[in-house]
Amino acid sequence: MIERNTAPPDTLPFLRFALPEIGEEEIAEVVACLRSGWVTTGPKTRQFEQEFGAYLGGGLETVSINSATAGLHLALEALGIGPGDEVIVPTMTFTATAEVVRYLGAQPVLVDVDPRTLNIQAGAIEAAITPRTKAVIPVHYAGLACDMDAILAVAAAHKLRVIEDAAHAFPTVYKGRLVGTLGSDATVFSFYANKTMTTGEGGMVVTRDAALAARVRLMRIHGIQQDAFARYTSTTPSWFYEVVAAGFKYNLTDIAAAIGVQQLRKIDRFLLRRKELAHGYTQGLADLPLQLPADAEAGSGHAWHLYMVRLAAGVRIGRDELIARLAEAGIGTSVHFIPLHRHPYWRDNCALSPDQFPAAEASFKAMLTLPLYTKMSDADQQRVIATLHDLLS
Ligand SMILES: *Cc1c(COP(=O)(O)O)cnc(C)c1O
Repeated sequence: MIERNTAPPDTLPFLRFALPEIGEEEIAEVVACLRSGWVTTGPKTRQFEQEFGAYLGGGLETVSINSATAGLHLALEALGIGPGDEVIVPTMTFTATAEVVRYLGAQPVLVDVDPRTLNIQAGAIEAAITPRTKAVIPVHYAGLACDMDAILAVAAAHKLRVIEDAAHAFPTVYKGRLVGTLGSDATVFSFYANKTMTTGEGGMVVTRDAALAARVRLMRIHGIQQDAFARYTSTTPSWFYEVVAAGFKYNLTDIAAAIGVQQLRKIDRFLLRRKELAHGYTQGLADLPLQLPADAEAGSGHAWHLYMVRLAAGVRIGRDELIARLAEAGIGTSVHFIPLHRHPYWRDNCALSPDQFPAAEASFKAMLTLPLYTKMSDADQQRVIATLHDLLS
């Protein structure tokens, strides 16, 4: 039998672009959850919320949901965003950041980003404000915090709500404080499989606003006044519940929370490894015609969810070809992101053209994201660096 897709024996295995690190601790916690008989939202979810809040320093409301997308949707809903409203969003993001605005019948207004960090800037927000603008969703691109002092000042001056898309930003430090504690209306984290910690699918809404948290808790589970855990352990008859709004089905399961509880215990080690790998790239790629990513300034800290590089102007090989050649050499890469204004839906829905977004356009054409995850070995990284030297020098 001919096996056409079998690699020759001397070929190294394909180096994946991203891979979660799941250990025996997560497996044991999930098994214990399954054996307990409580598989949907219950005690493990509550424990995960409490421990996540404690990691951020306490004194915060933490509401788990089954994705960051769901969390962004519910945070906007809780803030009363609706038809006729505009919400400012960077073009350099995943579609979830903008689509949640459409869920509520409001209009996302896409803006260009800082060419150095690819983060949204206060000045661009200010320039996009109209009488309809109600909120802004800064995205901490790759795990480097936006300049939140400047953004919160613009928001305060114009009475805008701020919801941070922190899908890349756990844990990210901004001027000595963790993202999640910076004083926006809400911060939303993602535990998708390729993020800095995972629950398979999942997310967390973090806020100091008790009313907002209560609304998100209500709407994540059908607009039912209390979740199953509270219902079945309080003195209220177990069959009784009240629907007070047309809610959604966005609750996190205990199975997922069990993974999260154990991932959270490893997050400092994960961060250390990500920093080591980012440092390794920065050293190893310094002499190549690549623009390397901006690091955090003193007193701040990068989460290094992504290590994105840009080809320098005048390099003979194009971005698409470089990605193809790396793949031929067994190295997986990706692109973060195809800017929203390039996608047919957003382009047509918002009547956008590329010349409105010069920084995102220039970056998009030159960018690729290199493999960076805790399970990657130093040898894996040396292979990426050596292959880039072969292809670029
Ligand atoms: C991954 C991601 C999301 C969505 O997270 P989910 O948990 O998959 O819903 C939102 N915004 C950004 C910037 C992301 O990278």
